[in-house]
Amino acid sequence: MWKLPETRSETAFEDYKAPYDTQQALTEASRCLYCHDAPCIKACPTGIDIPNFIRKIATGNVKGSARTIFSSNILGASCARVCPVEVLCVGDCVYNAAGVPPIQIGRLQRYATDAAVEAGWRFFEAGPSSGKTVALIGAGPASLAAAHELRRQGHACVIFEKGQVPGGLNVTGVAPYKLRAEGAKAEMDWLLGIGGIDIRLGVEVGKDVSWDALQGYDAVFLGVGLGPDRLLGGELAGVHGAVAWIEKMKLGKVDLGAVREAIVLGGGNTAIDCVRELLGLGVPGVTMVYRRTEADMSGYAHEWEAARKYGAKVVWQAAPVAYVGDGAVRAVRCKTPAGEVDLPADLVLVAIGQAKLGDTLARLGVSVEGGRVVVDASGATSRKGWFAGGDLANGGKEVVNAVAEGKRAAAGIHAFLTGGGHA
Ligand code: SF4
Repeated sequence: MWKLPETRSETAFEDYKAPYDTQQALTEASRCLYCHDAPCIKACPTGIDIPNFIRKIATGNVKGSARTIFSSNILGASCARVCPVEVLCVGDCVYNAAGVPPIQIGRLQRYATDAAVEAGWRFFEAGPSSGKTVALIGAGPASLAAAHELRRQGHACVIFEKGQVPGGLNVTGVAPYKLRAEGAKAEMDWLLGIGGIDIRLGVEVGKDVSWDALQGYDAVFLGVGLGPDRLLGGELAGVHGAVAWIEKMKLGKVDLGAVREAIVLGGGNTAIDCVRELLGLGVPGVTMVYRRTEADMSGYAHEWEAARKYGAKVVWQAAPVAYVGDGAVRAVRCKTPAGEVDLPADLVLVAIGQAKLGDTLARLGVSVEGGRVVVDASGATSRKGWFAGGDLANGGKEVVNAVAEGKRAAAGIHAFLTGGGHA
């Protein structure tokens, strides 16, 4: 059984959306119109029956509500907090068009699912043993969702995880004001309560276990996510890849005591998360530096708006060309429309994306395009009996997408193992 370190920088953060108490949940649930053909359901990658679970909350059936949610999304508690609901279900709630505040679907989902995880309510049992065993590579949300579905069908599961903690970015990468690692762990422990999912931590396939050894399994699911942070080159002390830094902050301590000015390079959601995390951890000056304009940034507008409220500074249209410093970074030299400028920084986080791992897997006989493993509508790769999902196949999306793709692949694997598939 794995444990989280007790001293972690992320524990400085409180939830930025406080959980509902019963009265708040009942009040919000009673506002739902229980729309026929509800657009909020269509906006959810896992297709949660949102009006149904909200109606159950409204009638005091919290357990039934949680069952409805988890039936579609086995990481429904995490997703309740980490989903960008503003651009998914809440963004599509019919109330928006009427100029009325939309239903707070994520907070209601959290109300029901937190209750289930805390109480240990069990909704799903493992199916009778099929005698088949599936190897899943990587222990992130895609593999966990796939493994849970496979266990319901009676297939044994072995997950190989090269790191020391399971859960993937749901544990190591989510902004702690949305979900701290202990919250993700609690849901994962609950999920694993189905039994028969053997997670082997610290085991890297291709290094500690050969790829050939996977031939001993009846099917394989690839869910290894993305690779290391992309860097610019010429890094000095005080310059870190954003994803690696976030993991350190979530699973251990980061020392920011001497940092006066921090720069985050990038314009995506990881960059915005870093900005808020640095501000939340007490860094006096935090500036996001993005090479294009605000209109071009890939980060969500609502996240950026929140970061600005917390005091984030920004320099648009500034492309980094070099780090300045003698051993330790002192500034980032950037090319701007007004010429080159040195932006002072004693900490720099580089959030310009992560490597895609598909190319390293192409030699195993799976088709790869643009660094992503190509899958069909059942999650099958071009290699017979091998499936994939999550960031490895979609290039980097949300936890909810990984869950949806893990579920889809589990259905494909089950069909394959029972002779109904074509993979
Ligand atoms: Fe309820 Fe809004 Fe979904 Fe309609 S669209 S069912 S009002 S949450």
